Amino acid sequence: MGNVRELLGSRMGPTTVKLDTGRGGTPDLTTQDIAAALAFVQQGLGRELLEALWWPESAARRRDQLRQGVIGLVAPEFNRQQFALSTARTEFGIAKASMGWGGGSVTEGQRKELRRTEIALEAARAGAWPNNTMEQLGVLAGAVFSEMATACSCKKCDGGRTQPAADGLGVTKCEECGGSGFEPLSGRKRASAIGADCSAYSRFWQPVYTWMLGRMRAMEEAAATEFGRALTRAA
Ligand SMILES: [Zn+2]
Repeated sequence: MGNVRELLGSRMGPTTVKLDTGRGGTPDLTTQDIAAALAFVQQGLGRELLEALWWPESAARRRDQLRQGVIGLVAPEFNRQQFALSTARTEFGIAKASMGWGGGSVTEGQRKELRRTEIALEAARAGAWPNNTMEQLGVLAGAVFSEMATACSCKKCDGGRTQPAADGLGVTKCEECGGSGFEPLSGRKRASAIGADCSAYSRFWQPVYTWMLGRMRAMEEAAATEFGRALTRAA
């Protein structure tokens, strides 16, 4: 798949490039063919990332679209968490107020409800990204993008994402890279990339960082697959 991505990088270079379709053929493709194939890739963050990573000339022109794509990915999830947190807080408040409401005696059911809503509130708090996630989005996106751009293949699975299963039958997800196929950056490097210290990264920022990295990688990969298919049709 690196092959079709590299085609984008060579887009501004020679007028024709060879495409290894994986079937032994290496037909000539013109830059027009490549541009046309790219137009077949569904618009969205995946395609923006594909272009930004592999076709830097285009990335400079499409900075706004890339920004909009990142916002469109992260903001709905942030809103969902904030809504879940606020709902859990409301339910905990109601449970607390209901204890012995109007001078009545506290029932076992009320105690149970208070405990239930308290646990739910704790879970919602633990699952929520930092309050200033949206303010930090530009920095986070830049760091994630840079990790995507410079990532090396996982040494253990060589980018294959799998390892032989323990029972000797078939394969299982590579433990080293969590099945991403890439060697993850250390927490220290990620922390420094977002201007936080190590403990702030692991306590607050790691969940949103790894969520963004996983989603953005998957979207870019889906776009690269679509691009590869369109190129094969053009070839
Ligand atoms: Zn691996």
